[in-house]
Amino acid sequence: MKSQDVRKQFLEFFKSKQHTIVSSAPMVIKDDPTLMFTNAGMNQFKEYFLGNSVPKSSRVVDTQKCLRVSGKHNDLEEVGKDTYHHTMFEMLGNWSFGDYFKKEAIDWAWELLTEVYKIDKSILYVTIFEGDEKEGLEKDTEAYNYWKQFVPENRILNGNKKDNFWEMGDQGPCGPCSEIHVDIRSEEEKAKVPGKNLVNQDHPQVVEIWNLVFMQFNRKANGTLEKLPAQHVDTGMGFERLCMVLQNKQSNYDTDVFTPLIKKIETVTGSTYGKKEETNIAIRVIADHVRAVSFSISDSQLPSNNGAGYVIRRILRRAIRYGFTFLNTKEPFIYQLVDTLSDQMGVAFPELKSQKKLISQVIQEEEISFLRTLDQGLQLLDTVIANAKNKTVSGKKAFELYDTFGFPIDLTALILSERGYTLNEKEFNEELQKQKDRSRAASEVAKDDWTVLNNSNKEPFIGYDHTETEVKITRYRKVNSKKDGELYQIVLDSTPFYPEGGGQVGDKGFLESKDEKVKILDTKKENNLILHFTEKLPANVKDTFLAKVDTKLRNKTSKNHTATHLLHQALRDILGTHVEQKGSLVSPDYLRFDFSHFSKLTTEELQKIEYFVNTRIEEQLPLEEKRNITYNQAIDEGAIALFGEKYGDSVRAIKFGDSMELCGGIHVKNTANIWHFKITGEGAVASGIRRIEAITGDAVKHYFKEQETKLETINQFFKNPQDTVKAVKNLQEENNELKKQIEQLLKDKAKGLKIELQTELQEINGVQFLAKQVDLEANALKDLAYELGANSKNLFLFLATVQNDKPMLTCYISKELVAEKGLNAGQIVRELGKYIQGGGGGQPFFATAGGKDPEGISKALNQAIEYIR
Ligand code: ATP
Ligand code: MG
Repeated sequence: MKSQDVRKQFLEFFKSKQHTIVSSAPMVIKDDPTLMFTNAGMNQFKEYFLGNSVPKSSRVVDTQKCLRVSGKHNDLEEVGKDTYHHTMFEMLGNWSFGDYFKKEAIDWAWELLTEVYKIDKSILYVTIFEGDEKEGLEKDTEAYNYWKQFVPENRILNGNKKDNFWEMGDQGPCGPCSEIHVDIRSEEEKAKVPGKNLVNQDHPQVVEIWNLVFMQFNRKANGTLEKLPAQHVDTGMGFERLCMVLQNKQSNYDTDVFTPLIKKIETVTGSTYGKKEETNIAIRVIADHVRAVSFSISDSQLPSNNGAGYVIRRILRRAIRYGFTFLNTKEPFIYQLVDTLSDQMGVAFPELKSQKKLISQVIQEEEISFLRTLDQGLQLLDTVIANAKNKTVSGKKAFELYDTFGFPIDLTALILSERGYTLNEKEFNEELQKQKDRSRAASEVAKDDWTVLNNSNKEPFIGYDHTETEVKITRYRKVNSKKDGELYQIVLDSTPFYPEGGGQVGDKGFLESKDEKVKILDTKKENNLILHFTEKLPANVKDTFLAKVDTKLRNKTSKNHTATHLLHQALRDILGTHVEQKGSLVSPDYLRFDFSHFSKLTTEELQKIEYFVNTRIEEQLPLEEKRNITYNQAIDEGAIALFGEKYGDSVRAIKFGDSMELCGGIHVKNTANIWHFKITGEGAVASGIRRIEAITGDAVKHYFKEQETKLETINQFFKNPQDTVKAVKNLQEENNELKKQIEQLLKDKAKGLKIELQTELQEINGVQFLAKQVDLEANALKDLAYELGANSKNLFLFLATVQNDKPMLTCYISKELVAEKGLNAGQIVRELGKYIQGGGGGQPFFATAGGKDPEGISKALNQAIEYIR
């Protein structure tokens, strides 16, 4: 069965059980500060489990792009070494939000595996939660009894809290789970060791394929469990592992999910898969990582130096490194795999196809720069080895290489062992731990549990139509982070405050009651909750408040947001439809727009873009807003959607003339309100990504005012000429002409001086000698000395000059004299330099010294003769 069909059958099976098919959420998470990447299918549904919001449909099925490379679920180090863990993988899941529970979940899982996919029942094992005394949790006999109908009891195994109690993170929804494992070993092997002994023992052919989680609890900040308001089902099946079973393979990498990539790697690198274990590992690492990195870039997360971008950079570097060491690839090659990946997965994930060029260019740039780093690192390592004592290299040095140059520690260890050196790993690990502690402490946010005052079924956000409204606080909590200190997060029953999102910053404003006024510093979204940040809580949290948005800021922001849409339209119109939004910032002060494009914008292009946007402003286009239309309807009408953005069943479309985008942000009512649009900057952010910064409204007025003031000042300098540009041009020309004249005069002066000095030379002890103060600038003085020297084999010239009140000595001695008499100009200027309170040096035949005291010049000149006496 082809992998595409495996995926399709899963979705269709649950559709036949009244589940709604939903699409994968983006892999890179943007609205949940507790998580960088989606690490399980349940992330996008977290708020439903917690009862913070109500799903449209209580039965859902999907396939979710997951990435397990950071935080609680981190498989990175396993990937490639084993055959069944990936960084990025698809998790197939069926979901019940307060609908069915254990019975149906178990019945359907069994039906799908054994009747639809026709997996041999005798290779299946299941596990159930055995209970945990410390947590006060009982054995899951309910699940046990349901399984008993299908599975012989000796194949139902008890599992402990580690394997059979699922938790997303340190806090949040959790519950007992029941896993399904397959034993795909040969009959001989099964005869030797029974499969039940190998379940959950990291055996590559006895692996978990499906986990059925029964969400019953919420883990609170203090570690205790509380019952959830309703019970839910959350299941996750590894798509690649399922394909392995259904395609009768022993490794995920032998399924059609990976074979095209592996073939391509073999061709590009000239290596062979399946012969030597270290080559196999490297090929698996590369095949896996190119998926993770490509999907992430198409979700708009580019490799970078911090946060999620840094994680992506490290994954890519791991792949480059494995190629470098084990496949001997010293040139970029991973970018060449993007075509294959896009051919293979572009149907299910069209973003890979449409962004192929960008993905491959970004990867290539990263490869080039990291290969350079590896090169430098290798040279540095040579020095480190040369200085090592007792054939051991200190962990501190290795850490420096790792930290500053991104030089991988396993490569350091490998090279050292090849040369018979050892690495002090303990010391390295200590350094690493110290660094981790530092960064954790910096980013750690301690959160109290919510204090819930009441639940509300009002519309949570009313900010499109209102900027102030009467509200009640429904819940609040204290949060504490190194970065922001102690703050409160307040949730209101309904709010006019726009929470940061879609590039637009969060609203600020006030909560006012008759007795007090609390400042709202910022507004953000965490999953579906709108959090208002304050420094203090109102004294009476149960009071009724007037929530008032700072409309001055909000109006400025809305101008910039609408201008951003018009800019996007202008770019696609003027540069082409390859332009895709790659990030934006919409604040009261300015807007920033990142987009894919491959060359610097010309002045002409920038002018055209400004003109395009300003024309839309002059046309006074009214806002046409469509709320609650379906995604498909919006796209059919021509709306632009962004990749990597999460869209619900119903969306909001914003239209101004021919510009139409899916957008949740705040906009002006008419483009005329923007007043004017002005680009203030254009540059590169990364390879293939450009950035434009621009301003609107009052900011443009200030900008023009500033320009005007500058111009006025210039005009004053020129005594108000008729034509300023011409005046500046004239001045420039005049200036150039004068420069030329000065140069000529200086040359003439030097010529005259040369003749004068030549006549003043004295013959002393066979040496042509002159010590004299002249009025010449340093470079001209040097030229002069060299010219005089060219005509003579026994010249000793000692010249002094004062330029800008600073004395300077120059000494020239013919090379022949230097050789014959052992004279040294460098030494002479150093010795005589002390008279002018200075120092200097140079070569034996030419040297200079600068000083502070011009008074000392005559003494220095008088002393010079001593050297040839
Ligand atoms: P394992 O113990 O094998 O790492 P897990 O307990 O971490 O699995 P869950 O968190 O329950 O797995 O995830 C649900 C399913 O997702 C698993 O049954 C498995 O099929 C799949 N899965 C989990 N991690 C990975 C991974 N890194 N690569 C591929 N598939 C995975
Ligand atoms: Mg795991």
